[in-house]
Amino acid sequence: MTAPVAAAFDVAVVGAGPSGLAAALLMAQSGFRTVSIAPQALPADHRTTALLGGSTALLERMGVLEALTARGAELRTMRLVDVTGRLIRAPEVDFHAREIGRGSFGINVTNGDILDVLGAAADATPNLTRIDGMVETVELGERLARLTTASGAVIEAKLAAAADGRRSRLREAAGIGVKTWTYPQSALILNLKCEVPHDEVSTEFHGRHGPFVLVPLPGNRISVVLVEQPAEAERLAALDDAALARELERRAHSLLGRFTVDSPRQVYPLSGLTAQRFADRRVMLIGEAAHVFPPVGAQGLNLGLRDVGFLAEVAVRARRAGRDIGGPETCADFDRARRGDVTLRTAMVDMADRALLSDHLPAQLLRGLGLALADRIPPLRRLIIREGLTPTFGTPRVMREVS
Ligand SMILES: Cc1cc2nc3c(=O)[nH]c(=O)nc-3n(C[C@H](O)[C@H](O)[C@H](O)COP(=O)(O)OP(=O)(O)OC[C@H]3O[C@@H](n4cnc5c(N)ncnc54)[C@H](O)[C@@H]3O)c2cc1C
Repeated sequence: MTAPVAAAFDVAVVGAGPSGLAAALLMAQSGFRTVSIAPQALPADHRTTALLGGSTALLERMGVLEALTARGAELRTMRLVDVTGRLIRAPEVDFHAREIGRGSFGINVTNGDILDVLGAAADATPNLTRIDGMVETVELGERLARLTTASGAVIEAKLAAAADGRRSRLREAAGIGVKTWTYPQSALILNLKCEVPHDEVSTEFHGRHGPFVLVPLPGNRISVVLVEQPAEAERLAALDDAALARELERRAHSLLGRFTVDSPRQVYPLSGLTAQRFADRRVMLIGEAAHVFPPVGAQGLNLGLRDVGFLAEVAVRARRAGRDIGGPETCADFDRARRGDVTLRTAMVDMADRALLSDHLPAQLLRGLGLALADRIPPLRRLIIREGLTPTFGTPRVMREVS
């Protein structure tokens, strides 16, 4: 039997969730012969993503921001409200985009729309090939990565970008271990119609079991992420539409009037994961293959898009220097570029989430004090806003905003 003929590429991106599609598009636009390998039929994802600051700059450079903005809602104000009912409570804090001279912090778009828009752009990009299927076998050699799909297609590439999610097969093949942990929380997500206009204000109620976030969507619609104890999230998810809408309106203090359920609901048990290295043996990890944490502060995919920006940056740097784009030096370059940002974001989100859950007075005091200072000291407010949108360290050039 003769071995199947391998198709050869510079870059193979495995996985076509939002991180994978963005990576495939950016690598092809950066002049690399790129292949995107993933099953085309994806399970329904009713989540939305708040794409902030640097992410919108990247998407603009990739030529897809206009299409995304047409389907999303701008976020002009972010409001944090403490409803923990604890002895020490944080003050209500409003952050406005205009404080740092911006029209908005970014846009909130459904994950379905992100995949549609990126998918259409990928289909229209000349040096980007899309292959429908799961990668089953991964062989990582001295000069090439060799990937075989379930249907027997064989693909060779100098660099393999692992965008294949938290159970990444490529990460495992590269021998990269992970640290994992869980939270005593689940996130209930769904979209609602509301009676009162949201005025492009995103509101985050901080409760004893996690945040309850109402994020604007186009028209009088909002997306909801409610983090609760797992049994409570399941109980709410099992309510009929009218009862669920009433319960959410009560939790939102009728801020946006009466709610009507406008999408199916989904429950996500919350967990964390950090890869021990971010690249090795021709494999570079992006998105949830590299990092997973709770949906607090809309950081997950924004961090994933910074992985994408650095993937292109280190590969272009290697090409210019005449180096192997998947070789050990380029892998070390990517690992260095991602380590600080991923470690810091994961720690910050973890701390913000656990501070809400904690009944300890010192933790409550610190949280309250932090938000009180953020509320009253304008330079600190501006620093927090800017770092939340585009971190000083950990943002690739392609995501830096022109001011
Ligand atoms: C409730 C909730 C709310 C969130 N809200 C926000 C937010 O507001 N802002 C934000 O920035 N982030 C948010 N996040 C995080 C964000 O949703 C994730 O970071 C993002 O969806 C991860 O995308 P990904 O492409 O890395 O992975 P995935 O979407 O998991 O994609 C993985 C892909 O890999 C494919 N795949 C897997 N194995 C293989 C294989 N062997 N071969 C080929 N393909 C394979 C899968 O089919 C899939 O296409 C939220 C998360 C949750 C849980």
